[in-house]
Amino acid sequence: MNVIVFSPHPDDAEVLMGGTIARYTQKGHDVLIVLVTIPNQKETRIAESKMSAEMLDARLLVLDLDCNEIQFNRRLVGIFDRVMNDFPPEVIYTSWFHDSHQDHIAVALATIAASRKNNCSLYMYEQALPSGMTPDTFRAQAFVDISNTIETKIESVLAHNSQVQNFSEQWVQGIRGRAIYRGFQINVEYAEAFEVVKEIKGI
Ligand SMILES: [Zn+2]
Repeated sequence: MNVIVFSPHPDDAEVLMGGTIARYTQKGHDVLIVLVTIPNQKETRIAESKMSAEMLDARLLVLDLDCNEIQFNRRLVGIFDRVMNDFPPEVIYTSWFHDSHQDHIAVALATIAASRKNNCSLYMYEQALPSGMTPDTFRAQAFVDISNTIETKIESVLAHNSQVQNFSEQWVQGIRGRAIYRGFQINVEYAEAFEVVKEIKGI
């Protein structure tokens, strides 16, 4: 099965659903992380993303679009159309459309628009960490038990060493803490949560 994960920036895919990516690849599915834009320290952050994708056993497609081009418009939707055409997905994950970060909002809306033709499931992962406040509430509707991939997820986060330096160890603790919180909600040790845009049941 092909799974596409749109990651607005380096580390979003790992921070917000690294455990789920590792679950998919453990089970032999093909996961493509689509890195949309790299706002700073380009070389370092691409190298970190490559290392991190390797740890998760996922493929990495670096679009490297100009930050100022990340807008919800025909151009961005057309680029995402081509990604889905080249790697036809059965499941797609993207950012949350009520995130406080403008790039996450644009990527979410462009993913939803680009998913208009296909019949695959589409989910949004949680708000970026770190992040600004938003007046909206994330509705955790779908959960993945990541108890056996949490350490792989944390390792993939630590691969983004520039960000660990930037945000301190508390960032990593916060990522683990969110997984514990989501796990507690479904009575497992660690989990990741998603909002459902559309879910195609294989019944
Ligand atoms: Zn981001």
